[in-house]
Amino acid sequence: MTTTESIATKGRTPTRSEPSPLSPRSTPDLDAPALVADLRTTFNSGATKSIDWRKGQLKALQRMLVEREDDILSALASDLGKPNIEAFVTEIAFVLTEIAVALKNLDRWVRPEKVRIPATQLPGKGRIYRDPLGVVLVIGPWNYPVQLLLAPIVGAIAAGNCVVLKPSEVSPTVSATLAAIIPQYLDHSAVRVVEGAIPETTALLAQRWDHIFYTGHGSTGRIVMAAAAKNLTPVTLELGGKSPTYVDASANLTVAAKRIAWGKFLNAGQTCVAPDYVLVHRSVEAELLKKLQEAVTQMYGVNTQETPDFARIVDSRHFVRVSALLDGEGAGTPYFGGERDASDCFIAPTVLVGTDPESKVMQDEIFGPLLPVLAVDGVEEAIDFINNRDKPLALYVFAEDKRVTDRVLDGTSSGGACINGTLFQLVPPNLPFGGVGESGQGAYHGRSTFETFSHHKSVLKKTTRLDPPIAYPPYTERKKKILRRFI
Ligand code: NAD
Repeated sequence: MTTTESIATKGRTPTRSEPSPLSPRSTPDLDAPALVADLRTTFNSGATKSIDWRKGQLKALQRMLVEREDDILSALASDLGKPNIEAFVTEIAFVLTEIAVALKNLDRWVRPEKVRIPATQLPGKGRIYRDPLGVVLVIGPWNYPVQLLLAPIVGAIAAGNCVVLKPSEVSPTVSATLAAIIPQYLDHSAVRVVEGAIPETTALLAQRWDHIFYTGHGSTGRIVMAAAAKNLTPVTLELGGKSPTYVDASANLTVAAKRIAWGKFLNAGQTCVAPDYVLVHRSVEAELLKKLQEAVTQMYGVNTQETPDFARIVDSRHFVRVSALLDGEGAGTPYFGGERDASDCFIAPTVLVGTDPESKVMQDEIFGPLLPVLAVDGVEEAIDFINNRDKPLALYVFAEDKRVTDRVLDGTSSGGACINGTLFQLVPPNLPFGGVGESGQGAYHGRSTFETFSHHKSVLKKTTRLDPPIAYPPYTERKKKILRRFI
């Protein structure tokens, strides 16, 4: 399907805006080596190290998000049918908060950090300096195409780097919009946007970068890491996977159902930390299912295609992918939902029961509005189930019994976790966000984004006023004794 078709078909829902006049572009004349060389010249000039420059750029980004809110929201509606308020909160407000945190704390973050040093090195001073890394590449995905491209660059700029942004071609209107407006606000000599698909990303990956920050699927993450390895470039990989949810018999089921349904069906399930599937204590399975249905009806009404508050699948390729999971052998049957409309890229919020744990819908990350609910006999079975699979990006546990929540946290490994909630773990800027194992490596948000894009340079300052001969040869017996005793 071409981009124009994709925008046009999605224009039928009440949530979609008119197709943007900005058309997505590839960059056939991309000269990646020259681009990186240009930015390296800027970096080497020292311009981006200035704290005033960093703050000025962050304020310009802030201004851009405020002044161009309408352009951004209509691009998000065009690509994903995102309801305006959802798009504002999860894409624009999120980045504005990151900028506010960076502006408030930057002076403190850049201050060399004093550390204690051993008595043998006294008199002297130990300091850790935060140096910018240089010229960095940020590659974004399509599901939160504004937040996931711009939140990393808040830290990259705060840390004094030059940045190339590569928006996802799968959300073409957002890509074109950001490529058009970013140069109007940010310093073109230090921040560039490259649009395009695999050829452009491949050309960019062939260059020498000082850091690559990639958000997307693990299969592409492997390509990114292999390319980075050629230049020993460090990477941050923000990947996905199947984030499990355990609902215990002690859980507040009414709240659990609402929070699971909200976290799952936000952005039509196209959220990296969406609850992928639910493991529920058998004794409360029937009640949870009933409450999930009530929660969905309350949020989206009976005809979920009618509401302006439910997003669409990003394109027909992903519509076909999610549909195949729903139709696949062993996927189970819809407890509710299951309706589809290919012409509108619509798949209804769907809860599946009777799902085979070995079926494809329980193997692949769903990344769509399907929620398999599987019964287990207790917390230990849930932990075994989770530990027999890849380490997830997020893990959710609903329980009022603290022994259960402690046991789940202690017995499993995941990028992050939330107790009695979904997705909220992303919100506090002081909680670093990232994966582990197959769900990624490295973390960001708040100060961690600044740290990700900084080199921690250890510096020991010595005095020349004292220069005891003990450390120098010749190593007499007396010196050896002293060295063995005190070092
Ligand atoms: P995508 O297809 O938009 O790809 C992301 C980027 O990779 C794009 O810029 C694209 O141009 C580039 N790319 C794709 N294939 C490539 C190739 N062969 N060579 C070079 N570059 C290539 O997005 P996606 O991967 O479909 O994103 C969805 C995945 O991202 C899901 O698995 C989701 O869980 C994960 N995700 C993770 C996070 C997180 O924060 N951890 C956030 C959002 C999405």
